[in-house]
Amino acid sequence: MQDTFDTTQRCAQLFDREDKLQSFRSRFYFPLRAGADIPSAISPRQMAIYFCGNSLGLQPRGTEDVIRQELKDWQDLAVGGYMHAKDPWLTCQEPLRAPLARIVGALEDEVTVMNALTVNLHILLHSFYHPGPDRYKIIMEAGAFPSDQYAIETQVKWHGYDPTDAIIEVRPREGEKLIREEDILTAIDQHRDSLALVLFGGINYYTGQLFDIAAITAAAHAAGAFAGFDLAHVIGNVPIRLHDWDTDFAVWCSYKYLNGGPGAVGGAYVHERYARNRDHIRLGGWWGNDEAIRFKMEKGFVPKSTASGWNLSTNQVFNMTALKASLPIFDEAGIDRLRAKSIKLTAYLAFLLQQLTNLRFDIITPMDPTQRGAQLSLFFKEHGKAIHQKMIESGITVDYREPGVIRVAPAPLYNSFQDVYAFYHILAHFE
Ligand SMILES: *Cc1c(COP(=O)(O)O)cnc(C)c1O
Repeated sequence: MQDTFDTTQRCAQLFDREDKLQSFRSRFYFPLRAGADIPSAISPRQMAIYFCGNSLGLQPRGTEDVIRQELKDWQDLAVGGYMHAKDPWLTCQEPLRAPLARIVGALEDEVTVMNALTVNLHILLHSFYHPGPDRYKIIMEAGAFPSDQYAIETQVKWHGYDPTDAIIEVRPREGEKLIREEDILTAIDQHRDSLALVLFGGINYYTGQLFDIAAITAAAHAAGAFAGFDLAHVIGNVPIRLHDWDTDFAVWCSYKYLNGGPGAVGGAYVHERYARNRDHIRLGGWWGNDEAIRFKMEKGFVPKSTASGWNLSTNQVFNMTALKASLPIFDEAGIDRLRAKSIKLTAYLAFLLQQLTNLRFDIITPMDPTQRGAQLSLFFKEHGKAIHQKMIESGITVDYREPGVIRVAPAPLYNSFQDVYAFYHILAHFE
């Protein structure tokens, strides 16, 4: 059923009352608005309208306790914590894999927790980009997140190829801001004889465009290439089915929609046909070694027959711990229910923004909810930076990305319809 929106505050109040996920909001800390007083004086008006969960998710109220527990275990047990901490450090990534697998639609053994996003991208490019004279090209989206561009450029150079020849960027057509799916599929087909890998962001960080991971994977495979994805803006935002879609590998960070905190540990997915294959080429480290023999300290790397066979170093306990507080929230709320709320929340935001007559901008994110996540990107031909500054001064937390884009991302776990209404109401009074 199509939701009907109007511009009254009552509409937002009604949606919040109907929202079965509304109680999750109280499980997060909201930051104070810029210039507000000390925390003890918090009143609702001093809290920011926070639409930046696509950049750094809010802190769950349970995070402090799980981190305190690790500090306490370290104080009381020191090295004994590896075996005897409440959640023994030796295996503390294990309980994180199942909830992550549910979020990305994978088998538990296809998911691992390690490092950070760009590092994981390099590690998996090492395993899935093996250029030869025939197949050496990588297809990616033009305007990908810079870190992804740098990772791919430097991998290509490392293998002795010329990035201007080996990297094929699919870009929007002249005068358009979004990439047409047919153009992606055509490019894959055109380069089918020389294509080694298709590597896409699941959602483009700048435009908010959600790509069809299943269709891109199928096209890459039909061309004899691997398909990998950067899920930074997808994980915890849009439900996906990596295993069923047969995607070869994927990487993500945990500090955006997953609310794992700044610098939280990243993650990776490797399809079971490689995860189970101990001979699949990879960089080795002792934490990827089979546990049964890890501490024998012997020669000869024998990887685990799961995605954790790509782990290199000792568990980063403090970087992992915050996920223990945040992932159970996703299980409780359910990623599908979150997505249903998110579709309505973002459609409501789009509707209200379209009613504004005092600001001149285009929403460059697709209007079709199946082609976007929570985020809307507002493109200002002029004055984008000044308008962003004004939003900040008005207690709205959104970010600005050159050139000209203000990104607005209501997160369904903790944002309300009244947040969206308040945002609209403030903007409607801008001169
Ligand atoms: C946020 C983001 C990153 C960040 O990578 P880190 O290695 O965690 O710093 C990379 N790629 C994309 C697409 C992102 O959105």
